[in-house]
Amino acid sequence: MRNCEVLSKARSDMPYPVARAVRAVQSATTLRDVYEGMLRGAEALTVVLGVVATTWAREYDVKTPQLADLGEAIVTGGASQGHWIQALASVGGPMSQHPQPVAGLSAALKRGKGGSGLIADLNELVQERNRWAHGAAPRNELEASDRLQMVLPVYERAMEKARFLAECPWILTSNSRYRRSEGDFQVHASRTMGDHPDFEQTTFISATPLADDVFYLHVGDDFIDMTPLVVMRQCPTCHQREVSYADRLDERQGVSLKTFDRGHVLFDRSLIEEVRALTHGVGRHSDTA
Ligand SMILES: [Zn+2]
Repeated sequence: MRNCEVLSKARSDMPYPVARAVRAVQSATTLRDVYEGMLRGAEALTVVLGVVATTWAREYDVKTPQLADLGEAIVTGGASQGHWIQALASVGGPMSQHPQPVAGLSAALKRGKGGSGLIADLNELVQERNRWAHGAAPRNELEASDRLQMVLPVYERAMEKARFLAECPWILTSNSRYRRSEGDFQVHASRTMGDHPDFEQTTFISATPLADDVFYLHVGDDFIDMTPLVVMRQCPTCHQREVSYADRLDERQGVSLKTFDRGHVLFDRSLIEEVRALTHGVGRHSDTA
């Protein structure tokens, strides 16, 4: 319903969870659905930004108290949007000094006048979500319209600041083949960008071996493993494969994953140790577990 250039562009080139949520916002037919779609979209954007920051930090052994807090929250009961935001904010400083940054991330976190900026916008969107969750959902179209006038510009502004996400693609590997003569790997994969679940297929050469059916963040020349933060799993509710993120650890059932699209929950025991390791705030290469 809403014709906004920032959002339309996001649908075409942002990571799938972000783009898919924007599609839901734009195709909603009532203002209350636009409002609720926007809250889900804000959550997807927040988690995706937090996942990208945390994935990068793990790869390069960057540690911050907030990253450890995020890991602790996942292990002890569930990460809130606030945890993801704090983890994201905490890598801005270390990344600005780093030789292999996620291009554009540190710049996106720079604060403007009076502390304005991406982090402030994400926090404002969480506050709105909390109001909604605690019984203050808009009761009619007029109220939804009023609330949207306040928060939709914040969502659009956050999306604009997060544009750098389009430049570090998410890749979901299918399979790879070692090329003896060249000594490298030919990888078949999906480029999980944009709002359409039939992902664009791609083939590329990697100097290092990549695992099958794993999400990698393509940063510069590197492919960084996003497991266990983001994985592709069969959703028992939708009966199809969905992009899911690590939400919390359940003592009996394993890692509780949430699908980005509908927030469905599924469990995976194979990721328990990797999720536990998040609490150490250590990189995956130095993990001796
Ligand atoms: Zn589902």
